Parts: sequence; structure tokens; C-alpha cells
Amino acid sequence: MSRLIERLYPICRSITGNGVRETLRILQEHIPLELHEVPTGTPVFDWKVPDEWNIRDGWIKNPAGEKIVDFKTLNLHVLNYSEPVHKTVSLAELKEHLFTLPDHPDWVPYRTSYHNRNWGFCMAHNQFQSLEEGDYEVFIDSELEPGSLTYGELLIPGRSDKEVLFVTHVCHPSLCNDNLSGIAIATKLIQQLAARDLKYSCRILFLPATIGAITWLSRNREKLDRIQLGLVLCLLGDAGPLHYKKSRQGNAQIDRVMQRVLNASGQEFQTLEFSPYGYDERQFCSPAFNLPIGRLSRAVHGEFPEYHSSADNPDFVNEASLEASLAVLEQVVDAVERAEVYINLKPECEPQLGRRGLFKAIGGQSDTKDFQMALLWVLNQSDGFHSLEDIAAASGLEMGSLRTAVSELLKTDLLAEL
Ligand code: ZN
Repeated sequence: MSRLIERLYPICRSITGNGVRETLRILQEHIPLELHEVPTGTPVFDWKVPDEWNIRDGWIKNPAGEKIVDFKTLNLHVLNYSEPVHKTVSLAELKEHLFTLPDHPDWVPYRTSYHNRNWGFCMAHNQFQSLEEGDYEVFIDSELEPGSLTYGELLIPGRSDKEVLFVTHVCHPSLCNDNLSGIAIATKLIQQLAARDLKYSCRILFLPATIGAITWLSRNREKLDRIQLGLVLCLLGDAGPLHYKKSRQGNAQIDRVMQRVLNASGQEFQTLEFSPYGYDERQFCSPAFNLPIGRLSRAVHGEFPEYHSSADNPDFVNEASLEASLAVLEQVVDAVERAEVYINLKPECEPQLGRRGLFKAIGGQSDTKDFQMALLWVLNQSDGFHSLEDIAAASGLEMGSLRTAVSELLKTDLLAEL
């Protein structure tokens, strides 16, 4: 995973353009990823696919004619989605187009201007403070023109058409934890899952953040019912503890599975409540969809100093953390595959158990036995999203009692295995 991260690190990615295509093509050397192209101008819910951005070069020359920042040295130096520019400007005008991190004066920030046409450069604050009066030549060799938005998708078929969904973003340029860690882990996870005989199908999406997720959702509405549960993957290579952010539902199957897997993982972790801010869980958990999708990360975006800066480089991620994160994902898949999940075939009110010989003939007795409670719990909770483990936790009943109830119910027309 570290090797893949180092290979992808120099590529200048954005929400559209050749950097994303080149990244996905490199992934195709490892996994049979399908690339999709969605033309500029395509309406996607309340948005439109933007013009495609590509960049070849960018620099600033000081009054002495020396290059003081160079895109070819570090692609973060050019404001992502900059329009082309080639002119000579005063220091005062230049400063209106410069971005720095005063709190970390040696680092170069990562900044974007997707929706407002602008040009700009990012540089170390120390360098910014040393700029002298005079004329500066600025040059950005970029294109912002109709093209398309590119994303990658892969389905690993299982025995069921119910799907486990993994999503990672692919739009950040030379940044490692924020972006490349998720890409590398998703790639390795696919290789492992493809070698298994799976009950659930697994779908993995490599999307430009926000607009890519919105685009995918708008093109795949009819597939959303298949999603059993899912995770957004990001920030998984740093040395910090794991953070699980709950789905909007808050107690969906993914939330219960993650709690159990993380408790058993032996790794330090924290659980975060859902909020409509962060990565693409915002789109998948928007009210029209409200999908059972949480987010797994180590660091939390915006809460570590290296976030969106040149310090999020290959040294900031390590193979041990990547492996430990991947291990959790394997445990999640194992837990979902193992889960005993059933569907109540007569979910409109309680079915008549007595008629099927399953319930005491005489009502009103208070010594309700475990078996009878187990029947009611299994029927009530078997909506396809609660496992017997979940039902045991909610009801306080033993797994043995629940399994006995299941085996009796399976003999009737009331229950089926998912
Ligand atoms: Zn980011």
C-alpha cells in the first residue's frame, strides 16, 4: 500500500481531468476497475458536472527572473482549478492570489477554487514574508473546458444481489493520508474480496469528492435499495486512533457491526455521531437516501495540523497503520458475511402464530417462555437489517433461543433467510 501511495503521490488530481484518469488507470493494473465518464453540463440533482480542468505547468518568477514556486516541484503550489494566466503583476496584486499557512510557516497549503473562476498559488508563509517589492511574472498553463467527470467503479458479485458498499475519494493532488490512504486500502481490500466466495456483493466506488458522489447517486438511484450497508473510507494511514462516524440513521446495521468489530479489534477507537459535514457520507446520508453508510478514518478531517498541507506527504502515513485499518475492514466484511439475517415474510402486523401451532392456545398467561418471546423478537426485527446478534443484544435473549425460534419459523411461511 505504501508503494502504491508513493507512485500515485506526484499526480495532480482534481475533481475532473487527466490526473484522476491516470490514477484510476494505475489502479486498473491491480484491479479490474471500470471507468465512467460523465460529460460537462450533465445535470446531477441540484448541480451540474463542471468544466474539466487540466494543468501542465505553473510558476512565479521574482523580479530577478528566478522561479520561486514551481508546479513541477510540488503540484500543491497551484490553486486547484486555477484558470490559465500569464502576465506580470505587482507584489500587491500577486498577494491577492497567494495562500499560506501562517501557523505552519514551512508548509504549503492545499486550496481549491472549483466553483469560482480564479487563479492562484500556494506557498510557505516564510517564503511569502520574504517577498520583495517589484514585478512578478505569473504563469499557469491550464485548461478549463467542457470535457467530463471521471470515476471508477467495481462490483464483486456475491451469491446475493444485496451489496456492501465502500466509497473513497480520488480528487486530491499530492496528499497522502487525505486521499491516497483510502485509495490504497480500497484497492487492496478489493484484491482480497475478489478471491473469496461472498454472500453479499461488494461495490467499490472511487469518486471525486462531493460532485462525484452526487453524480454517482443521480445515475444509480434504482440500485440504492440493494445497499445493505457501507462505509466511506478516508484518512486511514496516520498513526492516530480509529474514528467511526455513525450513519445518519444512527443505529443501522453498519453502526452495530462497527461497534462490535471495533470493540473486538483491540485497536484504540472513538465513535462519532453523524453530522452533515465531512466526506461523502453527507451525500449518501442525505434525507432522500438516508443510506446505512458510516465512515471509517483514523485522523478526523480538519482536526490534525497536516490536513490539506504539504506535510500530508508519504512520511505522514505508515504501512502498519494502513494494515491495521485494512484488518478492521476485513473484520467488517467477515462480520457481515457471518451475520444470521432473516426476513419476515408477513410483516404487516403480527401474523397468527396459534394457527400455525407456534403459540400457546390460551392467551393471557404471564409466564411467557423464552421461545415465545424469541418468536416475537425474531419476527419483529427480521427486516433484513437486524442480525440475530442484534436481536440478542436488544432482547436479552440467548442466541440459542433465537436460533430455535428461527428454525421453527423457517418451517412456516413466515420467515426466510436473507
Ligand atoms: Zn480533503
